[in-house]
Amino acid sequence: MSEPKNLKLPTSNKKQTFRVLLVEDDLAHEALILRSFETHPQYQVITKRTLAEACQLISQYQPDLIITDVRLPDGDGIHFVDQCLHKKTCPIIVMTSFGDEAIAVKAIKAGALDYVVKSDHTLRELPVIANRVLREWRLILDKQIAVDQQSRLIAILESTPDLICIADIDGFLTYLNKAGYELLGIPEDKDLSRIRLTDFHERDDAILIMSEAIPCAIKHGMWKGETTFISASNKNILTSQVLITHKSADGDIDFFSTVAKDIRDLRSAEETIKYLAYYDTLTGLANRNELLKQLDHEIDRVHRNKMHSALLYIDLDNFKCVNDSLGHPTGDLVLKEIAQRLKTEIRGEDILARLGGDEFVVILTGLSSDSLEAINQARQVTKKLNEFIAKDIQVESMTFNLTASIGISMFSAGTDNSHELLRFADTAMYEAKKSGKNQFEVFHKDMSIKVQRQLELEHKLRKAYCNKEFILYFQPKNEAATGRIHGAEVLLRWNDPEKGIRAPGHFLDILESSSLMLDVGHWIFEESLKHLAQWIAEGLWKPEQRLSINISTRQFQDENFSQLILDLIEKINVPAQCIDIEITEYSLINDVKKSVSKMEELINKGVSFSLDDFGTGYSSLSYLKNLPVATVKIDRSFIQDITEDKSDKALVTSIITISKNLGLSVIAEGVETKEQLEILNQYQCEYVQGYYFSKPVPAIEFEHLLISKEP
Ligand code: C2E
Ligand code: CA
Ligand code: CA
Repeated sequence: MSEPKNLKLPTSNKKQTFRVLLVEDDLAHEALILRSFETHPQYQVITKRTLAEACQLISQYQPDLIITDVRLPDGDGIHFVDQCLHKKTCPIIVMTSFGDEAIAVKAIKAGALDYVVKSDHTLRELPVIANRVLREWRLILDKQIAVDQQSRLIAILESTPDLICIADIDGFLTYLNKAGYELLGIPEDKDLSRIRLTDFHERDDAILIMSEAIPCAIKHGMWKGETTFISASNKNILTSQVLITHKSADGDIDFFSTVAKDIRDLRSAEETIKYLAYYDTLTGLANRNELLKQLDHEIDRVHRNKMHSALLYIDLDNFKCVNDSLGHPTGDLVLKEIAQRLKTEIRGEDILARLGGDEFVVILTGLSSDSLEAINQARQVTKKLNEFIAKDIQVESMTFNLTASIGISMFSAGTDNSHELLRFADTAMYEAKKSGKNQFEVFHKDMSIKVQRQLELEHKLRKAYCNKEFILYFQPKNEAATGRIHGAEVLLRWNDPEKGIRAPGHFLDILESSSLMLDVGHWIFEESLKHLAQWIAEGLWKPEQRLSINISTRQFQDENFSQLILDLIEKINVPAQCIDIEITEYSLINDVKKSVSKMEELINKGVSFSLDDFGTGYSSLSYLKNLPVATVKIDRSFIQDITEDKSDKALVTSIITISKNLGLSVIAEGVETKEQLEILNQYQCEYVQGYYFSKPVPAIEFEHLLISKEP
């Protein structure tokens, strides 16, 4: 008997009624059958006399059982059985007349659940037969559900990407899913019963499974761990494996199952993450985290073996220029090249890291136990590194040189702090930088005293700002030809309660290195404008005179720079035409386009800009035409020797000529002598500033100058 699929399931509810479709053309038989069902109220019987009528009814009536005669007026009952079976609706009982058994067998083969040879007795028995058939039907359905369920589970097992297998208590496989065959690389027709999963494990893992995993799974039901399979094609596959013991009701082990997930991708992703945390992706060198770790190890090591080691802090000189002028991709290539050079120059046991940007660290290990000898060794290696870095660099079609400044910090058994070591080397590197490019310095205690002093100074400056110890001095700018005051430059002073009036050379770099510069800078601007407003009100300041205020790089690069200035101009209510801002090209060079647009915001309101310290930086004269500056200030260093030094003379003349051609005015700074003034006059330099006319003076003295120099 074939098993119908997608069957309609009669519920097992006791009060349920069953709809019976009786297909019978013989009226006498029909009557007999109906009568026999009368005493069985759970059956509702509806009768049809032809195949056609019955078939039509089936879809509306949805019978739970069909009882049909084999011979019907419009056809063969078997044909009818075929049809109903095809629709898989309900069980069918066929009735035959005596002598029609052959047909009945055919009907059963076609799918009828039972057959009855018609007699008074059998027809009366029909309700009992119906009961049995319906019970049987129920079993068929349950079995079908179980089969469906199982095939779904198998479909799931077969489609999961993890290896799943079942093994008997001796470990031989009884089932392996598709992913399992693939992972282990065995053909699907291979006889599983001779394979154990451990056959595919690495030796150590096979031992682990036998000695640890199985006992654990037996004891606790499950074992979980990481194992490596070696596939038939010899591939190592790292997995996360679960081994489960399945026990029968009486507690005996029935079988084992295993799920193994290929975690090679996961592991390599984890490794990448780990790599990113400890290595620099650009150069492949250790990063700061990894360096600190290795440095700690090295500190432990020098403790043990009484040798010396040296930490070299390497900072490329002017690397920023490479990045700014040639672009970051080229900058990256340069960094890679430098990393490569360092790598080839140091020994395998030395440590090399990139701290970020253009800063590298080398740890020279195992230097002499004699401290002087060790310093000498470190110096020699450092010198070699300096030379190596300074060699020609070929990037794309360009060739150029870079140098580095290197700070050396020696360490031995007395050292225990990696952060401090780095800081010492960093301090020494700054010292090296100060003494020129391509230098190195060994850290010594005095340097840390210096660092300490700087920290103290910063603290004092904060206090100075709060206590209003900053004051402003003013130095006139004069017309070279007449000496008339054309304007003035505001210069910051600190009235230090300990040391008296101090010039910015003593503290400006510290101020600039902290955010305090923004507050102090704002104060300078506000205070300057207040003085200006007062002088205008008193009639001391002419509309054509301009007050020049120095702006630090940090201030200029502040996002709100232009707005802050415009707000101040509005608040204090001074004509913008009386304000000039002195700026150095270092402030502009980072992002010239942005700088220009910032400047233009102010220029549109009437403020002008002067380019300070001209001649000392990178800028060529042609670069000037791209900048919206009104004035060029020739740096004091060129004026100093102008009376003697021919090249300074030539430079100053060309600055004046070209600037004039570009429609810019020129002012010479630091004019101290009559001779200097005369030469500048000769070159037709319009304006001068310097001790020759006046030193920077406090506001009150400057007011006197304004009054006395009035024409
Ligand atoms: P700077 O902008 O180049 O200022 C000119 C410097 O030259 C001033 O030094 C001034 O006193 C000095 N000087 C003027 N004439 C002569 C001269 O004939 N001979 C000599 N030997 N020196 C002369 P100071 O006041 O010490 O300022 C030094 C630097 O500090 C300034 O150079 C400027 O860069 C910065 N600075 C001064 N005040 C401020 C300020 O308010 N804000 C900012 N951001 N920087 C300032
Ligand atoms: Ca200046
Ligand atoms: Ca200057």
